[in-house]
Amino acid sequence: MRYVSTRGAAPELGFGDVLLAGLADDGGLYVPVEWPAIDTGPSDEYADVAASVLAPYVAPDLTEAELVQLCRDSYAGFRHPEVAPLVEIGDDQWLLELFHGPTLAFKDMALQLVGRMFDRLLERRDERITIVGATSGDTGSAAIEGVRGCERVQIVILYPEGRTSEVQRRQMTTVDAPNVHTLAVDGTFDDCQDLVKAMFADRRFRESQRLSAVNSINWARIIAQTAYHASAASRMGRPIDICVPTGNFGNVLAGWIARHTGAEIDRLLVATNSNDILTRFIRSRDMTTAGVVPTLSPSMDIQVSSNFERLLFEMNDRDGERTAADLAQFRSDGHLDTSPEAFDRWIRPVFDSSSVDDAETLAEIARVHRETGTLIDPHTATGTVVARRLAGNRPVVTLATAHPAKFPDAVRQATGVHPELPDELADLFDRPERITPVANDLAAVEALVAERCPI
Ligand SMILES: *Cc1c(COP(=O)(O)O)cnc(C)c1O
Repeated sequence: MRYVSTRGAAPELGFGDVLLAGLADDGGLYVPVEWPAIDTGPSDEYADVAASVLAPYVAPDLTEAELVQLCRDSYAGFRHPEVAPLVEIGDDQWLLELFHGPTLAFKDMALQLVGRMFDRLLERRDERITIVGATSGDTGSAAIEGVRGCERVQIVILYPEGRTSEVQRRQMTTVDAPNVHTLAVDGTFDDCQDLVKAMFADRRFRESQRLSAVNSINWARIIAQTAYHASAASRMGRPIDICVPTGNFGNVLAGWIARHTGAEIDRLLVATNSNDILTRFIRSRDMTTAGVVPTLSPSMDIQVSSNFERLLFEMNDRDGERTAADLAQFRSDGHLDTSPEAFDRWIRPVFDSSSVDDAETLAEIARVHRETGTLIDPHTATGTVVARRLAGNRPVVTLATAHPAKFPDAVRQATGVHPELPDELADLFDRPERITPVANDLAAVEALVAERCPI
């Protein structure tokens, strides 16, 4: 499989180079030259289904046998034998539970696999990399768990000291692995992000440390997520709608790929919180940025959904120059203009969307608990509200993106019940933490990274 950039001005690459490059040279995102037909394979095992779905995207850099092994290793540690079980919570209303991995959120579904792919490809090339990232909570711990134990990857995660939840911080700081480095920055999440951007912009440092990233635009993450959309559709055995609690559009894009390549998915229902730019777009073709407001579902508090670029490229008939121009316009005046014809062809028949505020989120967590005895987290709750609001005459599968114990305050506020951590994490509050404090200063951070991460 070869890949092209959504902005049309970067060289075509194979899967391994796309994985290691992250962003294309022209600032665009890589997408396959053509979409292969989806095939979930003959096996019912989740790891085998994932390998079948991923196979056409990774050839020839990874063989089918290698891929099967990587997938089996990735999902072996999940707490549920089905990995991503389907649970009925109402009349034709289902949850796809994606939170049975090590850090209790759906990001494990992709990052467990991506870390192993990095290690395999780096070993073959006899190279090493340093992954750097900033986190306000979930992504950092999922990335750390994905690469702990990888021999050729060092990972440095910057988090804002005192501004993550204790569960989130401990999930990062209690990992005892020589290649994992968590830096507590004396600053905000934006400061952490600025430091990461500055490290990438420092060419000498970037090259000497061989910097890389595993952020939400990472292509391998997207296709790993496509696997569970396809698996859910095939297990349901009849056409379904899928409802996705959305931030960076990664999970929605993964569903769109499954649908576009042949999975029996009818509509994709996009759930947003009060940060509703995608709802406004899908309902009225109006993509205009507004300020970000904090909500009970922080992983969805996003204005610009970076992965939307990959769908925009399709809406533009794969014209990279036009996509680049559209995005430049969007950056300069905060408004993205799409044609009514492209909207009617690509958006209207496939997507619907609605937004859910914090009061509705809390009421929904309480309702689901009262009616089914199940605790759901606030991100999942935005999804189940939208799933009922927009239900048609097909089953709706809502992606349960986080375990309730990851957001105990909101769950307790809604239900009066404190959600317990799974047994594997029950001692999280007793484990020793390894914290390296650092000033909000580029030179100090770079010096620390260079010292800790031999390349
Ligand atoms: C990251 C995250 C999301 C948003 O996913 P995107 O792929 O960015 O749309 C939703 N819920 C939870 C719990 C998350 O961690």
